Amino acid sequence: MPEGHIIHRLAKELNETLGKRPVHATSPQGRFSAGAEVLNGERLVKADAFGKYLFCDFGLDQILHIHLGLIGKLRRLHAPIPEPVGVIRLRLEGDDDAWDLSGPTRCDLISPDEMESIISRLGADPLRRNSDLIQTRELLRSSRKPIGARVLDQDVIAGIGNVYRAEILFLCGISPLRPSNTIKDDEFDCLWSHTVELMRIGKRLGRIVTTDPTEIGKPRGRMNDSERLYAYKQEHCRRCGTELVVAKVGGRSIWYCPTCQPG
Ligand SMILES: [Zn+2]
Repeated sequence: MPEGHIIHRLAKELNETLGKRPVHATSPQGRFSAGAEVLNGERLVKADAFGKYLFCDFGLDQILHIHLGLIGKLRRLHAPIPEPVGVIRLRLEGDDDAWDLSGPTRCDLISPDEMESIISRLGADPLRRNSDLIQTRELLRSSRKPIGARVLDQDVIAGIGNVYRAEILFLCGISPLRPSNTIKDDEFDCLWSHTVELMRIGKRLGRIVTTDPTEIGKPRGRMNDSERLYAYKQEHCRRCGTELVVAKVGGRSIWYCPTCQPG
């Protein structure tokens, strides 16, 4: 599933590629024909991301709401724009670039009030400024759930997915099994600061890279897939060599080092 960094990157690229002229909107698959008709000929005023939600404002009384879910994709195409391939829910075509949306969990037109209601249910987004961190910390600790599950709760922190949670807990030396209400202030600060830093790097690079360039011996942009992560789907701890443990936490697999993440 695309994590928050990808949605923020998509919003930025949509603004850069579609914001200047009216778009040509179609639904090659047909399931969003009525919606595409509303958007056709309009200009994108602003695309914005909140956690894993993407909202595109075309200056109408309805806002395009997209959630990619587990398998959804929003792909950028360059001119000359090819014929649609596969099941494309929505194509937004500008002068030089086009975007194809396939397999989303949500793609619909909603009112500004509905958008506000979705945003109001989301927790702090590490890629947006002005989060209330004291409130976020207390909310995170208000549950006895394992911390590995709690950081996936989008109403606490919006945007973290399965890869980032494994990496951030590893870097902070916190076992994913610890009850959330045992997380100390300095541990929360560590979780938050790593989340912000790593998701900013991920947004810039378009992929998740959490390892330290000095540890790997090359810049992040040149790391290959076997070098860019500490814990997620790894066999041994990159730092101490211990075999990693795989556990189901929050219904999904997480990898952690029992030595570096005790408790
Ligand atoms: Zn270790």
